[in-house]
Amino acid sequence: MNKKIQMVDLHGQYLKIKPEVDKGIQEVIDTCAFINGPQIKEFTEELKEYSGAKHVIPCANGTDALQIALMALGLRPGDEVIVPAFTYVASAEVIGLLGLTPVMVDVDPYTFNVTADNIKKAISPRTKAIIPVHLFGQSCNMEPIMTLAKEHNLYVIEDNAQAIGSVYTFSDGSKRHTGTIGTIGCTSFFPSKNLGCYGDGGAIFTHDDQLAEKLRMIANHGQKIKYHHSVIGCNSRLDTIQAVILKAKLPYLDDYCAARKAAADYYTANLKDIKGLIVPQELPSSTHVYHQYTLQILDGKRDSLKDFLASKGIPAMIYYPLPLQQQEAFKDITRAAESLNISQQLADSVLSLPIHTELTHDEQDIIIAAVKEFFNN
Ligand SMILES: *Cc1c(COP(=O)(O)O)cnc(C)c1O
Repeated sequence: MNKKIQMVDLHGQYLKIKPEVDKGIQEVIDTCAFINGPQIKEFTEELKEYSGAKHVIPCANGTDALQIALMALGLRPGDEVIVPAFTYVASAEVIGLLGLTPVMVDVDPYTFNVTADNIKKAISPRTKAIIPVHLFGQSCNMEPIMTLAKEHNLYVIEDNAQAIGSVYTFSDGSKRHTGTIGTIGCTSFFPSKNLGCYGDGGAIFTHDDQLAEKLRMIANHGQKIKYHHSVIGCNSRLDTIQAVILKAKLPYLDDYCAARKAAADYYTANLKDIKGLIVPQELPSSTHVYHQYTLQILDGKRDSLKDFLASKGIPAMIYYPLPLQQQEAFKDITRAAESLNISQQLADSVLSLPIHTELTHDEQDIIIAAVKEFFNN
């Protein structure tokens, strides 16, 4: 019997690095260095090297990374932070949690990402920061966003939870990893992310020495010296066991991204001519690490395609079914800046197909055949 097709296959990936992971976890248990073990420093040094960031601060998860980033910038209640309406809730939740005002903006219909043009329309005298989200694994077009931020003196916090490994190219040809372009970058090591651990984890990136010190302090109860608390912080640590897994996986991250990209190219080559759907668009300014492979299904057929695939044992997911402006939690705290029609249209039409490092052409052929069968009916 064939293996069941899965949205992600973490077990298959684990089997390929099992000896390293098992040995590393056992070492942590043997030494009982569960908190702040040496492997955390080792991993963050390696991630610094990989990403090109001057500082990498580990923390407990991607949501904390965003929260700590906002806390470090000294924003005050009522300050506005611009965020795309089409994203995972965490990008905007932390803004509300800190008493700041999330201002939602629309996204580009083909890349799903925010653009400088949309951000520009939302800037007010109270705007202090922008959170561009590199959704589904492709960088936002950062050069015009950085220029705009500079003109208006705004901080840029990149939500890089879905795009670690992606590289952005500026017009002068220089390249930067996503998460190392803005004032601060944030990422998540949630298991299904492109660099995932076996629980929760996250990290914060910056080139700024002073900011790095502040971020580190906030993540550690606002202390630099033990029991001396200079600011209100939180308790946000990466577990040593998670660092061991990330250390084992980091050398393979580029291969993982390449495997996802190859799978995406295979989907696109076989699906692009089907009338009734739109394949994801890649911009020349960024590599795409395909955290998700997301189609737009036209003519209101998204849900019936999802059901049809499910009837054949093929999973597909809707990321995300509601844009932020439809979420009750934000009703009373947001300032609507402009029309959010594209975000609504995407929420109604997107469907993500299985994509992961272990996906085979045979599995993709089954998925592609099913999508074709649906549209020929
Ligand atoms: C996963 C994710 C987060 C949050 O990461 P956690 O580690 O789950 O807290 C934030 N933003 C985006 C876009 C994400 O996909």
